[in-house]
Amino acid sequence: MSAAVLSKSKINLYLKVLKRRPDRYHELETLFLPLDTPADRVEIDFEGVPGIRVSSTIPGLPENLENLAGRAALAYSDMAKIPAHWTIRIEKEIPVAAGMGGGSSNAAAVLRLLNDQYGALPESALAELALTLGADVPFFLHGRPAVATGVGEVFRYLDGTLFAPPLLVANPHFPVSAKWAYTHLAPEHIGSDCTGRLEKLIDALRRNDPAGVAANLHNDLAFALYEKFPLLAILRDFLRENGALNAEITGSGPSIFAVCATVEERDELALALSGAFRSITVFTN
Ligand code: ATP
Repeated sequence: MSAAVLSKSKINLYLKVLKRRPDRYHELETLFLPLDTPADRVEIDFEGVPGIRVSSTIPGLPENLENLAGRAALAYSDMAKIPAHWTIRIEKEIPVAAGMGGGSSNAAAVLRLLNDQYGALPESALAELALTLGADVPFFLHGRPAVATGVGEVFRYLDGTLFAPPLLVANPHFPVSAKWAYTHLAPEHIGSDCTGRLEKLIDALRRNDPAGVAANLHNDLAFALYEKFPLLAILRDFLRENGALNAEITGSGPSIFAVCATVEERDELALALSGAFRSITVFTN
């Protein structure tokens, strides 16, 4: 008996670091937009050999309990007191360590699949468990557009009609760890935002106004990334000069997304980008 789900990726249209806590967690205010492209596929065989096995289509990606999906399965088994005999396979499409939440999404997919199968935990316990695995994991349990606060565990879901603008996401093939990005966050970028940008961004998403979305993008983690990796500033400028209304890094990078006015302009930009930078993978929504 097995089951599978699509494990979505995300971008952060807005990411403000409000506070660095003594426990080294960060309090954030961030707008998560889930994406169906790229997405992984996570499958669990519930009647495998005793224990937890995790493999993926990416050679060198941590396996078994070193994979975040394996850690999620172990945490579920412990909390729900269900002996594990689970074989997990992950078909990866989401670039790794790219700021697109791949590992967190896979972990949430495992929690969801296991709880659909066994129904052993209430939603509140599942959410608690998710947060122990990583700050982005609770978001992926539902995978709906949301503003997250706290360390990523308090949600305001942006339900009702929301219009994602035409987007492309460009992934340069080098990894950046979230730890690096947070360690290099300069103190002057930490604090609350008095500009009202986040609410303007949400309004623009509700009004189907790509220009309004583009004008209000923000990412506190981006400053250090542009400085350390000049290619990212080159990419951002290329996107802005070739038809994007705006472009910004998602999460802890290095993937960078562009907001366009129309699907046609977005598709033209995707072509231009692929032509100019052969080693960049481009995704569109
Ligand atoms: P984060 O902000 O958590 O770093 P990210 O989207 O930038 O998220 P991920 O793709 O989740 O990065 O990878 C982060 C690290 O987690 C990588 O070093 C990778 O080896 C490890 N990892 C463990 N399990 C997975 C998984 N299932 N998918 C992707 N990466 C995983």
